[in-house]
Amino acid sequence: MAVPYEPTGVPALNLRAQYRTIRDEIEPVVREVLETQGFVMGPEVSSLESEIAEYCGAAHAVGCASGTDALLLPLMAIDLGAGDEVITSPYTFFATGGSIWRTGARPVFVDIEPDTFNIDPAKIEAAITPRTKAIIPVHLYGQAADMNPIREIAERHNLMVLEDAAQAIGAAYEGRRTGTLGTVAAFSFYPSKNLGGFGDGGMVATDDPVLARRIARLRVHGMEPKYHHHEVGLNSRLDALQAAVLRVKLRHLDEWTTARREVADRYRSLFAAHGLEEMVGLPIERPGNYHVYNQFVVRVPATIRDEMRQRMSDRKIGTEIYYPIPLHLQPCFASLGHKHGDFPQTEAAARETIALPIYPELTESEQRLVVGTMQQFLHERAYPSLFSDRAA
Ligand SMILES: *Cc1c(COP(=O)(O)O)cnc(C)c1O
Repeated sequence: MAVPYEPTGVPALNLRAQYRTIRDEIEPVVREVLETQGFVMGPEVSSLESEIAEYCGAAHAVGCASGTDALLLPLMAIDLGAGDEVITSPYTFFATGGSIWRTGARPVFVDIEPDTFNIDPAKIEAAITPRTKAIIPVHLYGQAADMNPIREIAERHNLMVLEDAAQAIGAAYEGRRTGTLGTVAAFSFYPSKNLGGFGDGGMVATDDPVLARRIARLRVHGMEPKYHHHEVGLNSRLDALQAAVLRVKLRHLDEWTTARREVADRYRSLFAAHGLEEMVGLPIERPGNYHVYNQFVVRVPATIRDEMRQRMSDRKIGTEIYYPIPLHLQPCFASLGHKHGDFPQTEAAARETIALPIYPELTESEQRLVVGTMQQFLHERAYPSLFSDRAA
């Protein structure tokens, strides 16, 4: 019998483990691109676009250079600009707010639900003004925002709904995948995303053929046909090498998502077995949602969060804070005039959350090390009485 492997640390992300499982499939397609020397756009990109559209159930998909551009391009395609407003969550990666700002429009933030960390639909209506043009719900950590009320509000006010699905490819809401839950959706292929390339990349998905065509033109300097520029766009082309790699990885995405969900379930069992369910707030999956766990984010009291992270780091366990500074408090958005206290749920989440390692290849013994280290810390540091009669 093999001696059980005892991990001496757990990285926050382990892309090498995944690469080892697909190296034999990746190498020939990369070599093929090298042989053709066709590096930008081309047949690999067109094939990836069709495959992503089919995967989501959307009619059209347009590849671009990053998830950030996949947010920016649809906003440019509705001629968003100075004087316009776009509603979104302040608890997200910077690109969500940054893409709104880049167009000249104003980001209008709406606080999150404390249990899903996604925009709270009940608070959207109050933020709508005659200048509002769009809503960007972010499917944070891999779980779709509550899209029925969001779509209903958007229809009533004639607003575009742009899904920020950067963290949520393959996630579903009431049986429909992200990419089809709004007017248009943005995906990212940044390496840490569930479908990650070997560099930057992004994709826009939509059912609207007019919007898709405009976005496809905007990503090549507003050019159609060659050297005829109807408007000033971006250089946001997708590379053939990325597309070739992503096409291989897409074939594995569902099995990897299943593995992520198993890892999440195992965390839940381990937290329960270690008697930590009351001390550590675990992520929930809302009924009707299919969570793809780009991140597994737990809550602990703000007073001990950073110290716990330090302890985990001392034990070579990688964690992250997504996100320590909400968008409304970022220096570059100071002119919006926000202050501490404007979005209490967002600010609480920024103080209390900690993202644990999660990826399809994470082993049970690695997860035991993560949870055991947290238990030991909580036992010593903060909650001795609750643990007095429990074994590790
Ligand atoms: C990663 C991410 C983006 C941006 O994607 P890039 O490919 O890094 O430009 C946008 N929004 C969210 C929520 C993200 O996680």
